[in-house]
Amino acid sequence: MAQITLDGIAHAYGPRPKTDADYALRPLHLVWEQGKAYALLGPSGCGKTTLLNIISGLVQPTVGRLLFDGRDVTALPTERRNIAQVFQFPVIYDTMTVAGNLAFPLRNRGMGAAEVSAQVRKTASMLGLLDVLERPARNLSADAKQKISLGRGLVRQDVAAVLFDEPLTVIDPGLKWELRSKLKAVHRALDLLMIYVTHDQTEALTFADQVVVMNGGQVLQVGTPAELFDRPDHTFVGHFIGSPGMNLLPATVAGAEARVDGYTLALAGQYAAPAGRVQVGVRPDFAELAAEGLPVQVDRIDDLGRVRLARVRLGRHPLVARVAANAAIQGTEARLRIEPSRIHVYSDDRLMAPL
Ligand code: ATP
Repeated sequence: MAQITLDGIAHAYGPRPKTDADYALRPLHLVWEQGKAYALLGPSGCGKTTLLNIISGLVQPTVGRLLFDGRDVTALPTERRNIAQVFQFPVIYDTMTVAGNLAFPLRNRGMGAAEVSAQVRKTASMLGLLDVLERPARNLSADAKQKISLGRGLVRQDVAAVLFDEPLTVIDPGLKWELRSKLKAVHRALDLLMIYVTHDQTEALTFADQVVVMNGGQVLQVGTPAELFDRPDHTFVGHFIGSPGMNLLPATVAGAEARVDGYTLALAGQYAAPAGRVQVGVRPDFAELAAEGLPVQVDRIDDLGRVRLARVRLGRHPLVARVAANAAIQGTEARLRIEPSRIHVYSDDRLMAPL
C-alpha cells in the first residue's frame, strides 16, 4: 500500500523531443493517495496507457520522477515495484484450477497454505467465483476467465497499487454493469490504491473516487464525478463527460451578461472582459424548453422515455435542451430557459472564475 507521486513526469517516444506535439505525455504533477480509486479517462491516443506503463515500469519516463511512499522507483523494473496488474484480456494458467490461479501470486511469495486458502476464498467470494473454485480454468467462459484475472490482481493485500487496463473489454455488455459494481464494492472492502484506465465515461464515473480526464497527452482535470459534471475546468471535459455533453456556444461576455448571436443570457456572476476565444457552456440538463425564455428554433425532439431532449438553434448556434415535462411544443418555435448559475464562461477553452 502506498501513495504514488508523479513528480514532473513527461514522456516522448521519439528521440530529442522539442515541441509539445513530440510528447505522448506532457509534464504533470499528481499525487495519488493510498486507499483511493482513480480512473484515467480519455479518447484513444490521449496517453492513458503511457501513464499506466510508467507506473508499472514498462515505460521509463523521458523526464520526471515516480515516487512510491516518497521512495524514487523511476529506475526500478516492474517486478520490484510490488504492483498487481489486470489487462484487457485474461492472463491465467489454463491448466490450473480457478483456485490454483488465484493462489499462484500468494504461493509465489511464500505465503503459508492456510493463509493462501483463506485469501483465495475471500477473493473468490467477492467476485462470485466460489462455485467454480475447483474447476479447471480452461473450460470457463471469457467472462469468468477475466474474473479470474481480476481476482489474481486483487488477491494480494500487500501491493503498492492495482493497475487495471480497460479490464472490462472482453466482458459481455450485459455483465459489465454487474462487474463494475462488484469492482467498486471490492475497492471499498480492500484498502488498496487502484488505477483504472478506460475510454468509457460510465466505467470511470462508477468506479473512481477521482477521475483524471486526459486529452492530447495532457491532464485537463482531476475531480470527483460530481465536480467534472458541475464545473468542468476545460471545454473538452464539459463535452466529453455527460451524454450528450455540455453545449458550447461562441459568445461575448461583459459584466453579468453573455451575448450569443444577438441574444442576451444572464450570468450568475460578473466577469472581467475575457480575452481570447470566448464560449459559454451549459449542460443540456440545465437548458430547458419552457413557457418563457429566449426564442429558439426546434429542429428535432427525441423522446428517451425518462426525458425528452430537443435539438434547437439559438440564432445560428445549435444546442441540446431538455423539454419540461408539461411543455407542449407545437411547430418549430419554442422558448429556452437557462438557469444563470449553471452557465460557465470559457476563455480559450479554460473555465473563467467570476470576479
Ligand atoms: P488507447 O486507448 O488507444 O490505448 P491511450 O490513451 O492509451 O490510447 P497511448 O497508448 O498512451 O494512448 O498513446 C499516446 C500516444 O503515444 C499516441 O499518439 C500513440 O500513437 C503514441 N505511442 C504509444 N505507444 C507508442 C510507442 N511504443 N512508440 C511510439 N509511439 C507510441
